[in-house]
Amino acid sequence: MKNSRRTFLITSIGVASSLALSRQAFADAPKVAESDPTAQALGYKEDATKVDKAKYAKYAAGQDCGNCSFFQGKPTDAYAPCPMFAGKQVANKGWCSAYNKKA
Ligand code: SF4
Repeated sequence: MKNSRRTFLITSIGVASSLALSRQAFADAPKVAESDPTAQALGYKEDATKVDKAKYAKYAAGQDCGNCSFFQGKPTDAYAPCPMFAGKQVANKGWCSAYNKKA
């Protein structure tokens, strides 16, 4: 009885600390650089207003990562992960040609 309770407690602590660790890893994920090859291929800019409008005619003012369906953070998060850039974070005010307006 005592033993199983202890095992349960130890297991719970383990799970809680690995959750804390993964949250930490998320916060520390590097930010996408505009020089990143994927960023160049997708025309990613940290500042959506700097998008090359001649090259990306689909860009419209007001579009940014913060209102894109791929942005994996809250609308108020300055940076959040995006599946186009695995393991990295994009800027809320950024933009790339895979932009898809959040429904
Ligand atoms: S897919 Fe959306 S969230 Fe990701 S970089 Fe492009 S515009 Fe930003």
